Amino acid sequence: MAHHLRTGLGLDLVEVDNEANLAALAHLWPHKLAGDDFLYVSGDVGIGGGLVTGGTLYPGVSGFAGELGHLTIEREGRRCRCGSQGCVEQYAGLDAILGGAGLDDILALSNALAEADIDARGAVARAGAALGVALASVINLCDLATVVLGGCYAEIFETLAPALGAELERRTLAADSRPTTVLAAPVRSDAAVRGGAALVARRACNEPERLIRLKSTGSLAAAQYSISRGVLTGGLAAHFVQVGAGLAGFVTDAKVLGVLGYIVSNLGFDEWLR
Ligand SMILES: [Zn+2]
Repeated sequence: MAHHLRTGLGLDLVEVDNEANLAALAHLWPHKLAGDDFLYVSGDVGIGGGLVTGGTLYPGVSGFAGELGHLTIEREGRRCRCGSQGCVEQYAGLDAILGGAGLDDILALSNALAEADIDARGAVARAGAALGVALASVINLCDLATVVLGGCYAEIFETLAPALGAELERRTLAADSRPTTVLAAPVRSDAAVRGGAALVARRACNEPERLIRLKSTGSLAAAQYSISRGVLTGGLAAHFVQVGAGLAGFVTDAKVLGVLGYIVSNLGFDEWLR
């Protein structure tokens, strides 16, 4: 996909990743909202995950790392769309929760939970326990400090978290010395977009020569120095303050920098550049 976008849009700098990984990055950059070692869990019909260790997103060999929805929690359990059986998303995915609660969508579920509906609370608690079983294995494998629950899980966090936490406490090896912190995702609906912006902005700052086709090597070095330290001087600063100028088209280098400037100034990355 990255190749098609590069060719189709005529852009050199294109990053492609899945929603859960990008949402995980939104919690890493610029403010490290969940520390350096955490698992971001994206709840929906499927369950996605982004695994961050040592301040770096771990993609795996094929980019499938963190796909925790298909961790098996019951060997002969419910059939899954992936072809396996007993995958955790068959017990803790949104469809399983709504089915258990007899409801149609997340809004109806949130309303039912607010009214302390017994079926809704039971369905969410069962999902929390199932998710906790799967997460305990991940935590034991990777020795993570924090789990961030995003997507629909952030909306039902208060009911989900106790059952989930009880399974973590029961099953994780480090529970006595260092209980796992479980957070409702601080960045909600636009997490993947923010993570995508962070990914491009960070790459552009590390490799400005890919965006800025400056003619002399001296200028390039200066540009790299300026950007990497967040010291936006001279002509570069002028480009950066063209806020949003290039959103309509990536025609000139100045406009590309305008887009980068827009990202940096509007999404709060200026702090992280320093
Ligand atoms: Zn599966």
